[in-house]
Amino acid sequence: MSRAKELEKLRLVLQRRRRAVLETSRGAREELRALKDQERDPEYEEGAQSELADYTLSQLVESHRRELELIDSAFQRMDQGVYGECVDCGADIPLDRLRALPFAIRCEEDARMYERERRGSPQQANFTL
Ligand SMILES: [Zn+2]
Repeated sequence: MSRAKELEKLRLVLQRRRRAVLETSRGAREELRALKDQERDPEYEEGAQSELADYTLSQLVESHRRELELIDSAFQRMDQGVYGECVDCGADIPLDRLRALPFAIRCEEDARMYERERRGSPQQANFTL
């Protein structure tokens, strides 16, 4: 199969992934809202457990938001015809890497370099691009 066809298949993968993230994200946001309502209830005793759940859900919502951003920028790159090219060196990102990380924007080598430069930045924990 040609690379163009393979990339087209990845578009479908990303579309499915986007829908799945949106659905999970909606569930998490509803839980978070329910939790907040519960905390506003004067009868409710605040506990460490609910704070933890609150924190975990907020993290989840945030990581979904970031993943959606990455997926959307992958679609943008597809529309511009540059999807699958490394933003740093311009080389084709190997299909194996794209299958594992469909929203990757860098080849492995440049991703490592990028990570090394960014290390220490706290919001970089979830994704290695
Ligand atoms: Zn590169």
